[in-house]
Amino acid sequence: MELLLDWYAGAARDLPWRAPGTDAWAVLVCEVMSQQTPVARVVPRWLAWLQRWPTPTALADAPAGDAVRMWDRLGYPRRALRLHEAATVVRDRHDGVVPGTYAQLLGLPGVGPYTAAATAAFAFGERVVVLDVNIRRVLARVHEAVDARPGAPRGAETARALALLPSDAARSVRWNAAVMELGATVCTARSPRCGACPLQARCAWAAATAVAERAGTDAPGPTGGPGAPARRTRTTRPQAWVGTDRYVRGRLLAVLRADPGTVPAARLEAEWDEPVQTRRCLQSLLTDGLVQATPGGYRLPD
Ligand code: SF4
Repeated sequence: MELLLDWYAGAARDLPWRAPGTDAWAVLVCEVMSQQTPVARVVPRWLAWLQRWPTPTALADAPAGDAVRMWDRLGYPRRALRLHEAATVVRDRHDGVVPGTYAQLLGLPGVGPYTAAATAAFAFGERVVVLDVNIRRVLARVHEAVDARPGAPRGAETARALALLPSDAARSVRWNAAVMELGATVCTARSPRCGACPLQARCAWAAATAVAERAGTDAPGPTGGPGAPARRTRTTRPQAWVGTDRYVRGRLLAVLRADPGTVPAARLEAEWDEPVQTRRCLQSLLTDGLVQATPGGYRLPD
């Protein structure tokens, strides 16, 4: 425990949301943006977002389409809509103040267990387990010499993290931040740097790796050699990006973002040369509320 917290004190990256005085709204925006998006891409968007909308009420008073436009290319743009919805609920039901407990945060639209826990811990100092992909990976490797299971955390995984969480609230917040940072910078998904890790001496994955290396078998690999840690991997190939529905949706949204008014349907249909796919993607954007139909075509939502 102390080794980990000491390591974090010296190794934590200098990220803008870690500055003293970062308020709960800024933390909530950071946590929503950081899901599925690398930190390097989040930082400039987060700074610009808070400069434009420094409070939930400022965002709630703006059209939802402005949030989608400002989201730019962070990916998964429904997060921008959900953030706008959450800001609206904060304005209308919480007097414009981000609520301060895990349970209350979970009641905001689009705020799931991870975002609620991270905001409760890092903005309000609540003792709560923050199970992001990095923490899940580190704990699974240290205790079981495996990668975390895909999908949502199961009960046993949450219970283990809770048992490890320091009982003191302030230390629990630092523990969450430290394990998360370790997973993001040292115990990465593809190439854990065990030699630089403060947990190496007590890590099952590192021990299994050493046994495998002494035996001359493979180091951790797709299936794990004899004695090597068992890595759970996807069995399907990653899908090519260009030509996917997400890619086409992104192109259609880019056209709509660039135009403050209504975009004619023909302009969107010309954006991609597969008409059936283009219509399907446009329909899915309408269904998601990211696009509105107007008499003259389409636009971002009001
Ligand atoms: Fe990850 Fe290696 Fe550290 Fe274990 S010793 S937590 S596998 S980096």
